[in-house]
Amino acid sequence: MDKNYFRILKELGIDEIFVEKDNMQQDKIKLLKEINEEIQKCTKCDLYKSRTQAVLGEGNINAKLMFVGEAPGADEDRLGRPFVGRAGKLLTSIIEELGHKREEFYISNINKCRPPNNRTPTPWEQEACFPYLEKQIQIINPKVLCLLGAAAARAFLERNVAITKERGQIINWKDKYLILTFHPAYVLRNPSAKDTLKEDIKKAIELAYSD
Ligand code: SF4
Repeated sequence: MDKNYFRILKELGIDEIFVEKDNMQQDKIKLLKEINEEIQKCTKCDLYKSRTQAVLGEGNINAKLMFVGEAPGADEDRLGRPFVGRAGKLLTSIIEELGHKREEFYISNINKCRPPNNRTPTPWEQEACFPYLEKQIQIINPKVLCLLGAAAARAFLERNVAITKERGQIINWKDKYLILTFHPAYVLRNPSAKDTLKEDIKKAIELAYSD
């Protein structure tokens, strides 16, 4: 690359675009790192007592689709990554069966700390943790949020959700779309629900990538 090449790019304003984009990425990484530091020290609800580490989330920080589950389980708590146990493997395999890669999307949970014996977080525990997820959503800015399970749906809709009746629906939430579906852990216990989960995830991906 000679200086002329960069001069021409500069005249076209292209270097500025790259720099601007790069700065945006750096800002996003920095902000997510700050949230991660905060949750590792957080004691806002009692779930901090049972965690090995808090689990922020992972994936594409520019994702158009974010998956949101309930809370980390034993494997997630040990490894510090979301959806890496059996339920996570099922989610990943469904994404791949649909011709996509897990890394295209961002994956997180309502609660960042593992509840004792994997019990469902209480509404109060969800409320305490929700602002962290809201900040993540603000930074990543996905178009669609696919909510995995009734507990995740309850945290967003602030009411109890009958997931078998309400799954598959597209709901407006702020400037985003929510798609409610089963938690993959439910599908592990009820394998006949796999096609339904896959159908809902397909819908979420198509909506995320639509114009
Ligand atoms: S679950 Fe959330 S609110 Fe509760 S201690 Fe962990 S990070 Fe804090």
